[in-house]
Amino acid sequence: MNNYAPKKGTFTFTMIKPGEENQENIGEILTMITEAGFRIQSMKMIRLRTKQAEIFYRHLADKPFFNDVVKYMTSGPVVAAVLEKDNAVVDYRKLIGATNPEEAEEGTIRKRFAKSTDRNVVHGSDSDDNAAEEASFFFSMGERFNSKGFCFFGWGQ
Ligand code: UDP
Repeated sequence: MNNYAPKKGTFTFTMIKPGEENQENIGEILTMITEAGFRIQSMKMIRLRTKQAEIFYRHLADKPFFNDVVKYMTSGPVVAAVLEKDNAVVDYRKLIGATNPEEAEEGTIRKRFAKSTDRNVVHGSDSDDNAAEEASFFFSMGERFNSKGFCFFGWGQ
């Protein structure tokens, strides 16, 4: 083991959202991610409980679509992952494309796989602070691995 924590700015957090239509594309989505230069630092499939989804999406609590987001995000398993790359948050937001897939650019994950804003296939953190918080929401430092295969101890983030 080494004793370095992953540094903010070097990683982002993603989820492949629930649904049969997404499950059948998990392999291709992960290929797009790794081909874009992201290294998978952590990954697991997990079904969120309602309380967890409410906490994860609490910044949307006053939006009319909040309950639908929580219902959808708890409707089946998600694939959660921490992705490592220089400039990870910004580059990953570029790779996933606009929230509304109709506005997403060619070559983005949402353009290729998403049918609508409320089922837009993937989540990606929108800031380094949120990436750190969201990664810790799902993964302990013992579940995050550097490129040499060692896990992190977790201080200094
Ligand atoms: N969302 C929705 N309806 C809307 C806007 C957003 O269902 O009108 C959902 C959508 O799944 C989106 C999530 O809420 O991915 C979070 O919204 P945000 O604005 O943070 O977009 P994102 O960061 O995911 O692009």
